[in-house]
Amino acid sequence: MRKEHFEDILAHTAAALPNEGCGLIAGTIADGVKTVEKVYLLTNIDQSPIHFSMDPKEQFAAIKDMRASGWVLLGNFHSHPATPSRPSAEDISLAYDPSASYLIISLADKEQPVLKSFNIKEGSASEEQLEIH
Ligand SMILES: [Zn+2]
Repeated sequence: MRKEHFEDILAHTAAALPNEGCGLIAGTIADGVKTVEKVYLLTNIDQSPIHFSMDPKEQFAAIKDMRASGWVLLGNFHSHPATPSRPSAEDISLAYDPSASYLIISLADKEQPVLKSFNIKEGSASEEQLEIH
């Protein structure tokens, strides 16, 4: 992803504090490599520091916009306001798409936010390579 995508995710999730922030990630896939073209910043309707649910109307509008732009849904992101950047037991149990990238940004250290990407398959999460340039 480009640096501006990381900055969008950081600004959006920082603004959502003390609650979790969330959104969708769209782009292209070529030879198994995902390229992020747009980050959709969505409302966490749970308004909770430990849970998130994306606003369904915003989600629908984002899917429509990415289709119109010729992109596919690559995955999603959410923040962990006070815990590390790794999927919680709940994140793993709610993950339904083995091909999706699940990005988590930890804001536990405000000076050094940590963004990581995971694949979640059959109840276990593995980190995948994430390049920001
Ligand atoms: Zn989580």
